[in-house]
Amino acid sequence: MPGEQNSAVGEQAPASAGKTARKRAKATKKADGPESRLALVRRARRINRELAEVYPYAHPELDFRSPFELLVATVLSAQTTDLRVNQTTPALFARYPTPEDLAAAVPEELEEIIRPTGFFRAKARSLIGLSTALRDRFGGEVPGRLEDLVTLPGVGRKTANVVLGNAFGVPGITVDTHFGRLVRRWKWTDEEDPEKVEAVVCDLFPKADWTMLSHRVIFHGRRICHARRPACGACPIAPLCPAYGEGETDPEKAKKLLKYEMGGYPGQRLAPPPDFPGRPAAPLGTGDADEAREAV
Ligand code: SF4
Repeated sequence: MPGEQNSAVGEQAPASAGKTARKRAKATKKADGPESRLALVRRARRINRELAEVYPYAHPELDFRSPFELLVATVLSAQTTDLRVNQTTPALFARYPTPEDLAAAVPEELEEIIRPTGFFRAKARSLIGLSTALRDRFGGEVPGRLEDLVTLPGVGRKTANVVLGNAFGVPGITVDTHFGRLVRRWKWTDEEDPEKVEAVVCDLFPKADWTMLSHRVIFHGRRICHARRPACGACPIAPLCPAYGEGETDPEKAKKLLKYEMGGYPGQRLAPPPDFPGRPAAPLGTGDADEAREAV
């Protein structure tokens, strides 16, 4: 239940505030000097373990039923929310179920369907281009190799890693805006360039951890460690975070900042995995959808 999830996280903060402060003081003291490589690796892996306990249900937040659907949804997700993409793709895949169908789309008709995701002309060009490439160069199948995926129109390294990690089981780090922001707050790296961030983080973790680490970090960025006002006072990894205090530290006020299932709101997927403890998102134009959109 979303409410239970919310109170579980939010109410822990006041009860453990003293312990948290002591642990944080210790962490801060250690952080006064330069952190050794070994200490950084240990702290990074501990954060991953803590996040795994907080978000055992972490998952990609785009609805998809095949590698093709995930590829298309990921291209559409640029500059918009996963929720908005999920609300758009049912009509899109009903009209164009295969790469062959999408390659033959009339641009204006396709643009109209994907208009809610923004930048719809450029995205329509990418979708027709990548579908044509899938049809003509890959036998109508999405390739399972990074070097092939990045040759498709509109597909960069980030999109390729999302598809590889979630549709092919090939480990990959997805450096989106949340991932970059959080790993810099955690002082895993100072790099701004996503490819450099990816390389640094890959070096901190075994390959088998990469995909789930990406989901957990992005979940945390969307629910607790927000860009503008992180909910530090309700954050379970505060003792491990050098940026504690950048956001709201009062536990009660911080609890009110929690989003999605943590705050009792719907999630972003219309069809979430069975273990997701929150509510599914609703189709475009309904009250629940608007509520969830505000929570992005
Ligand atoms: S303590 Fe604050 S800055 Fe650090 S991870 Fe938690 S919410 Fe983010």
